[in-house]
Amino acid sequence: MADGIREMQPAGRNGRAIRTGGRFWRKTGDAAVQLLFPRRCPVCDRIVKPSGEKICVECLGKLKPISAPWCMKCGKKLRREGEFCEECRDGRSHYYTAARALYEYGSAAPSIYRLKYGGRREYGDFFGEEMAACLGDFIRGTGAEGLVPIPLHPKRQRKRGYNQAEVLAKALGGKTGLPVYDKILVRIKNTAPLKNQNSKERQNNLKKAFLVRKNDVKLNTIILVDDIYTTGSTVDEAARVLLDNGVGKVYVVALAGSEEVSLWH
Ligand SMILES: [Zn+2]
Ligand SMILES: [Zn+2]
Repeated sequence: MADGIREMQPAGRNGRAIRTGGRFWRKTGDAAVQLLFPRRCPVCDRIVKPSGEKICVECLGKLKPISAPWCMKCGKKLRREGEFCEECRDGRSHYYTAARALYEYGSAAPSIYRLKYGGRREYGDFFGEEMAACLGDFIRGTGAEGLVPIPLHPKRQRKRGYNQAEVLAKALGGKTGLPVYDKILVRIKNTAPLKNQNSKERQNNLKKAFLVRKNDVKLNTIILVDDIYTTGSTVDEAARVLLDNGVGKVYVVALAGSEEVSLWH
């Protein structure tokens, strides 16, 4: 039987043929996907021209990266020169070690809304690359061994089709070379939307929201990835659970950060 197969398909030649064919179909497949589902601009949502780009040239300037000074702990933009925001001034306001967000929330809010609820998963490629480019120094400085996206509850993920934090983490991991561990942290409580809740209510709502599956890979330092950083209560609860389960240090990166309470998170 085995001899028969070898006779019909010489193993070496066959192996090469499959590899070459794979490359060919991947390239052709990408072009076909571009043709059938042209990439849309994360800012204006129109089809990006020329094909192959991820954002319109004129839209690039509409996303506003958070500029200095920012809080050295939570990454929030500071109103005046200083090291920490009012909340972080005592240095013990959060379980995580430090957090950074890329964009001012207002400039990225409509894009993030479509990324989360409008099926615009493709925006993740552009945003992940930008996070790698702009937050790269911070990410390298942490010495982290991997990225962990903030999970959605399975019910919510099924409804939405994907987890936007995981999409961002994978694009960011692709650019930074950091592996993405999307199975370590699990959401076991389908929390009510946190809008209109004060910080105490948010904390109570998030209690027992996360579970760490056995930290088999024994990660010491990780970076949590989320789309929006508002009060930090979600990432903080995730960080607390990870630290309780043997992780040594937790950092946070988010696509956008704001002082105001988000409408959607
Ligand atoms: Zn555009
Ligand atoms: Zn702060």
